[in-house]
Amino acid sequence: MDKPALKTDVSEILDGLFEETVAVSLDVWKFAELGLEEEKSARAHARFLADKGFRVTEGAGGLRTALIAEWGHGKPVIGFLGEYDALPGLSQAVSTEQSPLVQGGPGHGCGHNLLGAGAVAAAVALKEYLAKRGGEGTVRYYGCPAEETLIGKVFMATDGVFSDLDAAITWHPGDINTVAMGSSNAVNSARFVFHGRTAHAAGDPHNGRSALDAVELMNVGANYLREHVIPDARIHYVITDGGGQPNVVPARAEVWYYVRAPRRNQVEEVYARLLDVAKGAALMTGTAFDVVFLSGCYDVLPNETLGQAAMAWLRQVGAPAFDERDMEFARKIAATVEPRQKEQYLERVNAPQELYEQVMNTTVVEPLDKGKVLPASTDVGDVSWITPTLQVYTACWPIGVPGHSWQVTACSGHPLGQKGMLVASKVMALTAVDLVEKPELLAQAREEFVRRTKGREYKSPLPEGLAAPVSPLR
Ligand SMILES: [Zn+2]
Repeated sequence: MDKPALKTDVSEILDGLFEETVAVSLDVWKFAELGLEEEKSARAHARFLADKGFRVTEGAGGLRTALIAEWGHGKPVIGFLGEYDALPGLSQAVSTEQSPLVQGGPGHGCGHNLLGAGAVAAAVALKEYLAKRGGEGTVRYYGCPAEETLIGKVFMATDGVFSDLDAAITWHPGDINTVAMGSSNAVNSARFVFHGRTAHAAGDPHNGRSALDAVELMNVGANYLREHVIPDARIHYVITDGGGQPNVVPARAEVWYYVRAPRRNQVEEVYARLLDVAKGAALMTGTAFDVVFLSGCYDVLPNETLGQAAMAWLRQVGAPAFDERDMEFARKIAATVEPRQKEQYLERVNAPQELYEQVMNTTVVEPLDKGKVLPASTDVGDVSWITPTLQVYTACWPIGVPGHSWQVTACSGHPLGQKGMLVASKVMALTAVDLVEKPELLAQAREEFVRRTKGREYKSPLPEGLAAPVSPLR
């Protein structure tokens, strides 16, 4: 059997699937469904996979819009992770000027329409490869809902659906062609609901116990706490209920917190102290409180073995092939962002000089995040503590365009994003073929995983018995 020729096939298979993949990415882009409401998007993925001979099951982790598609049998078991949730308020036409399709509506401002479709295509390509090659091997695709609110993979992980994987592979659309070698912040997300007693705010305030006072004092306490936690921790909150009107002492008030830190155990330490702050606020104000734990996730555990294998393929596949029309669109989008913003971003990530001059990244960049912790969080973290996990990045929008923006929504519905997606699919599928063909590579990735986890088992960050939410968190 001529294996190198078969690998070329993987690239050709993905070229052949490109039109279909783009169609799925565009459908999902148009549906623009928020996390936990991605019914049409999940169905589009399920249909694509069922058509290609995958067995599809729905509802993993108690999530209506989660799906798992499987093909083949035996070892190794390679899982591709996809997402399809949109973001509120980022509706936007495929245009270089800000113009929402639906005023205030959701849009794919993080490119998850590309992420999902690209991961599906990679899974299908690996299946086609294995079908031709014969022998053992299982391909799995995980449709993971509600990444933006850090729900999907955490509840799915708690359900144990990743535990028999030999490796997990995913990507994220971005502005640079590279591979992730770094980590990200772990997080807890919880609402604190304070209960007091109403009273006339002028007539008999002495009879009232203000839940809003408790929220405010909790926030004051949290702001004093900042200086006495590790400097890398991030504590942020929004008041989601501050009472009705000023002449009523509020009996109910609510504040929503995120606590982030580079390591899961650090999040747990800071979070425990925040609970004490909430207790103090309740004691001071004569109120009571409930904690509504929404979700939590792990930091990403990098796997350099997988990262290097994918980098080798990325160098071979090369940057996306943008044409002059794509570049014209990219230049106009880039012009909507302050030049200073791009520079600051490139300085922060310590980018090579060539990136300052490029509009779209047309080269392959050596990983920039080795040994670093991304301040944001992703539920890919949970999977990465269960099995060796790879994340690829490709250029889908101009360098320096901020994430979660209308510009990203525009590019995610444009050939710019689609061409970036194709490169990601190829790198993911080719790396997966490596893992199937070279058991020693898989063993090395596993060894690194064991070394980094120090043999610690994944323990869900969710309180025991917590049911998956059924509607979007707002
Ligand atoms: Zn994202």
